[in-house]
Amino acid sequence: MSIKTAEFLVSNSNVAKCPKNNLPEYAFIGRSNVGKSSLINMLTDRKNLAKTSGRPGKTQLINHFIINQSWYLVDLPGYGYARVSKKVKKEFQKFITQYFEEREQLVSAFVLIDCRHEPQPIDKEFMQYLGEKQIPFSIIFTKADKLKPKALERNIENYKQELLAGAWAEMPNYFVSSATNTTGKDEIINYIEQINLQ
Ligand code: GDP
Repeated sequence: MSIKTAEFLVSNSNVAKCPKNNLPEYAFIGRSNVGKSSLINMLTDRKNLAKTSGRPGKTQLINHFIINQSWYLVDLPGYGYARVSKKVKKEFQKFITQYFEEREQLVSAFVLIDCRHEPQPIDKEFMQYLGEKQIPFSIIFTKADKLKPKALERNIENYKQELLAGAWAEMPNYFVSSATNTTGKDEIINYIEQINLQ
């Protein structure tokens, strides 16, 4: 599948105001700086569709993009930035849980993880939350070009072992991506298209 059209549609701070029609929707989320904007630009073949982060955590909006006039790609705010108050963190949590629990069009989420890092509690907690709410998701290990193949394999295996030692009976579906050399692009887009065809 190729992406023929990709357009920014709307930003919202309120889930209730998100687009009302029934197009299938896929949400991208992860810690600030994980490479989410770069991934979205890579997937859609657009240089500046998603704004790469100037100041992490500044914009807390739900951004809808419409792809091929047939599905929504949703860019959610990054989480896990250190420099915000407890109050802001709490508001963020409410905003995100509202999105995941109320947005009926959501088909699946993609949780982005920097492939170089050890498993972080905030990511594991977030995936556990999705699991408990039975919200389908895949992991995307980003910035794969930053590691040699062996190290990448080792880190993913390590991640898997940590999840299996915790709440997970099996490793969630996952992809490996690089915005620099377009690794993972076809796999992720094809995966979405396959679901849309079902
Ligand atoms: P966001 O905050 O999650 O949207 O992250 P950005 O897309 O703004 O990326 C954060 C930083 O990581 C930027 O300096 C990007 O250039 C860099 N980056 C993002 N994706 C990749 C990647 O796949 N490979 C490499 N080498 N750098 C990346």
